[in-house]
Amino acid sequence: MSSDIVSGQYRFFDARVLRSRRLGPTMVRITLGGEQLRAFTSGGRDQSFSLFLPHPGQHAPVLPDRTGEGWFAAWRAVDESERAVMRSYTIRAQRREPDELDVDFALHGDLGPASRWAAGAGPGDRVVLLGPVIEDNRSVGFRPPDDTDWVLLAADETALPAVGGILEWLPPHTRARVFVEVPNAADIQDLDAPAEAEITWLVRESAAPGVDGPLLAAIRAAELPAGTPYAWIAGESGAVRALRRHLVGERGFDRRLVGFSGYWRLGTSEEQLLAEKLAAATG
Ligand SMILES: Cc1cc2nc3c(=O)[nH]c(=O)nc-3n(C[C@H](O)[C@H](O)[C@H](O)COP(=O)(O)OP(=O)(O)OC[C@H]3O[C@@H](n4cnc5c(N)ncnc54)[C@H](O)[C@@H]3O)c2cc1C
Repeated sequence: MSSDIVSGQYRFFDARVLRSRRLGPTMVRITLGGEQLRAFTSGGRDQSFSLFLPHPGQHAPVLPDRTGEGWFAAWRAVDESERAVMRSYTIRAQRREPDELDVDFALHGDLGPASRWAAGAGPGDRVVLLGPVIEDNRSVGFRPPDDTDWVLLAADETALPAVGGILEWLPPHTRARVFVEVPNAADIQDLDAPAEAEITWLVRESAAPGVDGPLLAAIRAAELPAGTPYAWIAGESGAVRALRRHLVGERGFDRRLVGFSGYWRLGTSEEQLLAEKLAAATG
């Protein structure tokens, strides 16, 4: 995103937690506020952003330089135990007057700094966002072509906020088949959706997330509508990859009409994923 700051798509925003509310046993909604959010401009749908969090004991996230292209190198130069924890999240909702953002965190225990932070966050806690200042920005991935006949959404709980945003954005008569995997039955949410959206909730219970979860099996077994689909898949990387392979390989979906994004990978933190990307880019 560093060059995008210079190109004017994104900037840093200081924000504070206003309130938090449990949506279910493994999901918490954190509402952020602050004067700077007046300029934050979500494109809706699956709008993502980078969230910077303090470590336990710090009163604010440590980000030495926020002025432009140099921020990433400056952030990386600080020791990992000191520099802000950087994670990717989705804008579940944006409101004006007052300027507020809702971010829904899937809680998966204390192993992840973001999950741990979200579970304990309270009013006044400080965060920094790197997010959009224009609606049409590169962090909106859901872009169905005009001639789409129906939409397929497949997600685990980390992409449920994006599914909620997408369903609210879709025109009222869109035909949609939606498959969402959640850890517990009590994590199922009431979503505002077009009348012709059929939502199938899959409860993982004791199964592991990822390829062994029920999402893949349900879509493999599903009878899907005829016509030109646009598919959007997000969640655990292994499951996303397997689903994409199924849609393109076995169902014959046009690969250009299958948007997909690994939101997390079993056994790997977001730092480790970033380190892998950097190594691949430089090696
Ligand atoms: C574009 C994008 C948008 C995203 N939007 C959201 C969102 O709105 N809400 C949301 O909750 N997540 C979202 N995610 C996923 C989130 O960034 C990851 O789950 C992230 O790893 C959480 O950080 P952490 O510090 O809690 O765990 P990390 O420190 O990154 O990981 C620690 C360990 O926990 C595991 N882990 C990470 N996430 C989960 C999980 N959900 N369940 C079980 N184990 C896990 C990792 O495999 C690793 O072993 C999004 C990701 C992307 C790329």
